[in-house]
Amino acid sequence: MLNPKPRTTVEELIRQGDALALLQKAGELHGHFCPFLALGVRAGLTAIQALGIQENLGMEEVVAILECNNCFSDGIQAVTGCTFGNNALIYRDVGKTAVTLARRDGTAVRVALRAEYVETFRQNLPEEASALFRKIVQEHQEATPEEHRRLMELWTEASYQQLHVPEGELFAVQHMTITVPPRSRIFASVRCAICGESVMETRARVRDGQFICIPCAQAEHYRLTGNGIAVEVA
Ligand SMILES: [Zn+2]
Ligand SMILES: [Zn+2]
Repeated sequence: MLNPKPRTTVEELIRQGDALALLQKAGELHGHFCPFLALGVRAGLTAIQALGIQENLGMEEVVAILECNNCFSDGIQAVTGCTFGNNALIYRDVGKTAVTLARRDGTAVRVALRAEYVETFRQNLPEEASALFRKIVQEHQEATPEEHRRLMELWTEASYQQLHVPEGELFAVQHMTITVPPRSRIFASVRCAICGESVMETRARVRDGQFICIPCAQAEHYRLTGNGIAVEVA
């Protein structure tokens, strides 16, 4: 039978403060180990411990307001249990490596990566790792399988190293009270008169009294990509 509390293991690891095991879990979601995934794991752990959260069933009882969409974000999702899919992840497209974790009553803590640490991290990164990162990730140049393998190896090592940096060097932690957005509403579904697919009513357009989905209506909508949120035309 399925355990109705799937986060039992993760929550036990949080209680034990086992960042390494949590990084392993986050890696299952993220696909690779990298420094910012580990920093997300650390930030998530810091925030949960600071708020004293024992359990999160992903029912919006805990909400994470995330200020970036990068590897850090997956560390946050894996550890806090606030995800894109359970509506407990609120994304502010402001490009900061920071997260605010909040309870429903507005009790919150913001954990932000220190700018000084980002600089130290860059300076301390081995040249081989920076060169491979530039080539493969930043410039999307063709790389040999060996270069890929080596980057993953160096990145895994760098990921592991983030677990041993003292928390105070990594993060500025601020306790605060915020206004948490209301719980998400469940909207009715309707059928698109053109493609026949089911679509959330609030996203459908009405033409000649019929519901039309955004792609069929070729209507503008927001799209979140690795570059952030932007308006797109279907
Ligand atoms: Zn990554
Ligand atoms: Zn349609």
